[in-house]
Amino acid sequence: MSDERQSAFADGDVDWSTAGIVARRDTYFAASQRKFVPYETPQIFKTGSGQYLWDETGRKYTDLLGMNLCISVGHAHPEVVAAVQAQVAELTHCTTMFYHPTPAHLAEELAATMPAGHDWVVHFTNSGAEAIDLALVMAREHTGNTDMLALRTSYHGATCGAQALTGIAGFRHRMAQMTGVAFVPEPNQYRGIFGEGVQPYLDEVDRTIQTATCGALAGMIIEPVQGYGGIVIMPDGYMAGAFERVRAAGGLAIVDEVQSGFGRTGDHYWAFEADGVVPDIVVMAKGIGNGIPLGAVVAKRHIAESMADKFLFHTYGANPVACAAGRAVLRVIRKEGLQENARLVGAALKARLEDLQQRYEVIGDVRGRGLMMAVELVKDRTTKEPDPETTAKVFEETRRKGLVVSKSGPNRSVLRMVPPLCLSMADIDPVAEALERCFAAATR
Ligand code: PMP
Repeated sequence: MSDERQSAFADGDVDWSTAGIVARRDTYFAASQRKFVPYETPQIFKTGSGQYLWDETGRKYTDLLGMNLCISVGHAHPEVVAAVQAQVAELTHCTTMFYHPTPAHLAEELAATMPAGHDWVVHFTNSGAEAIDLALVMAREHTGNTDMLALRTSYHGATCGAQALTGIAGFRHRMAQMTGVAFVPEPNQYRGIFGEGVQPYLDEVDRTIQTATCGALAGMIIEPVQGYGGIVIMPDGYMAGAFERVRAAGGLAIVDEVQSGFGRTGDHYWAFEADGVVPDIVVMAKGIGNGIPLGAVVAKRHIAESMADKFLFHTYGANPVACAAGRAVLRVIRKEGLQENARLVGAALKARLEDLQQRYEVIGDVRGRGLMMAVELVKDRTTKEPDPETTAKVFEETRRKGLVVSKSGPNRSVLRMVPPLCLSMADIDPVAEALERCFAAATR
C-alpha cells in the first residue's frame, strides 16, 4: 500500500474507494481472517435497511443471508438503533460486578420465552462460541462427567471448546482437540449414512455411548436445524429419543439455537419445541442482537447453580448496550409478528424453490422450515453425488442478479437462505425470478 494512501486517511477518515478497501484488508488482515471470502472477487457493503443491502457503488441487493443470521429483525431497524443509541450515550459499559437494570430485564424476558413450568436463568456472553464453551463447562460441572456427544456436520464455533464439538473438518484446526467428545452421525434424511428414518440413528447413539464413552455423560449438544451443515433438520423424534438416552446416561440435553432461534423456523419460537423436548441448557447468539455482539446461555436454575462457588467472567458479558439491542429485538419480533411472517414467507419461498427443482435436475433437495431454507445441488439425483462446481457457479450468479445467499454444507453444495425475518411476500417473486435466471445461466 502506498504511503500517500496511508497518510491521506490516517486520522479517523474512511477510505470508501473500492481499491483502497481491498488493498487495506488484503494487506493488514491476518490469513486466518482474510481467508473467509465467498465470491471470486471482493464484495463490499456500505448500507443496510430492512432486508436490503447496498454496496459502495450504490447497487442494491436482497439479503438472504442476514449477515450470517445476525440481522434478525432487519438492517438498521429504527427501534433497535434508537435503543442502542440511547444506551451507548448514557452508559456504554457496566461491568457485571455492578448492577444495571437492562441486562436483568433481558434475562427476565428471555426466561419467559422458555418452556413453562421450569425455572430458567441466564448468563450473557459476547458471542455464540463463548456461550457454547460455557454450556460445556456447566454440563461438566453439574454432572461431574466429562464425555459429550455431538453430531457430525455440526457447527458450534471457533473457540477451542466449540471447535472440539464441531463435526466438520474444515472448521477444525491442526491441534489436539479437547478430549471427551464422541460424534454420532447426523440424522440427515436426504443423505444420512443410514438413509431415512430415526431409529437407526438412535441405535447408533446407544452404540456410541456404550463404546466411545465411559458410559456416563456430561451431555449431548444438538442444533435442531444444522446451519453450516447445510440446513439439516432433526427429524421428528430424534432429539427426544437422543436426549432420553443421554439423560439415562446421566447427561444433559443442550441445544444450540444460535441459527434456528427467535422465531426463524416459523412454527415455533425455539426450533427445539418442534420435537416437544425441554432442554436443560439453551445456547443463543447472532439474531438476539440484530448485529450487536451478544450471546447467552439459558439454563435450568439447578444446573446453573452448580457453578455458584466460582464466578465465570466475560468482560463484556451483560453489556447494557448489547442487552438494550436484545430487548428491542424481542419487542420487534413480537410487535411485527415476525415469527408468523417467517412461517408464511418461508412457505412461499419453499414453494418457489420446489417449483425450481421440477425444472432443474441439478437441484437434488429443497428443505427448510420458515426462513431457514436450502437447496442442495447434485450431479445425479440417484447417486446424490454433491455438485460443488455448479453450486459455485449458481452462487456467483446470485451476486450478479442482486441476491446475497450463502454456500454451505460439508460438501459446499448447498445454497443456504436465512434472510432477516422481515423478508416480505413482495420479495418472493423477484427473488424466485432472480434464482431462476441464476440456475439458467449456471447450467446452460
Ligand atoms: N453455533 C452455531 C449453530 C453457529 O452457527 C455459530 C456461528 N456461525 C456458533 C455457534 C458460534 O457463534 P459465534 O460465531 O458468535 O461465536
